[in-house]
Amino acid sequence: MRTLIFASNNSHKLSEIRNLLDNIVNILSLKDINLEGDIPETSDTLEGNATQKAEWIYSRIGQDCFADDTGLEVEALDGAPGVYSARYAGEGCSFADNVNKLLKAMKGQSNRKARFRTVICLIENGKKNYFEGIVNGTIVEKGSGNMGFGYDPIFVPDGYNISFAEMPLDEKNKISHRGLATQKLVEYLKSK
Ligand code: IMP
Repeated sequence: MRTLIFASNNSHKLSEIRNLLDNIVNILSLKDINLEGDIPETSDTLEGNATQKAEWIYSRIGQDCFADDTGLEVEALDGAPGVYSARYAGEGCSFADNVNKLLKAMKGQSNRKARFRTVICLIENGKKNYFEGIVNGTIVEKGSGNMGFGYDPIFVPDGYNISFAEMPLDEKNKISHRGLATQKLVEYLKSK
């Protein structure tokens, strides 16, 4: 079976993708290959960060690998927090800090449209391929739900009246940014 390295040690992401690629591709985490160190994420685009992370691995081990990067893009804030979603409220901030900062920035704002976007960069034999997943939705005025993570309590996907944090994970995965990008990657890998 073919092996791919995933530039992550996030157990949620790993089990999600391993589920989808069961018996087709063997997915190894950075821990699995004992690759340590801080992967740089200094680009100002999601594509740039995904590329940077995948290249960091490829340049060290020369094996096929992929990396992802995600951001929440709010229309009324010109796409912020976007690539800075993880540290919107400052270095070392919590998910709650980010949510509070965003709710403050959106106070009184009537345009509440937003989207989550994930970009995956796959490197095979040195050649790069990109897969994108987008979910459109709305930033609500008050958070609800306690599942998920990050901005989930204040994001209601289009066509639903519950937030991502009120949605069971398997339901969220079917429509989410990361789920859609991952499904595209999986279809590509299956077609080979
Ligand atoms: P990452 O690139 O997957 O690490 O995501 C960057 C940041 O985007 C995270 O730290 C979260 O704040 C936010 N984020 C990514 N995916 C989600 C999600 O599915 N729900 C809520 N927030 C998310």
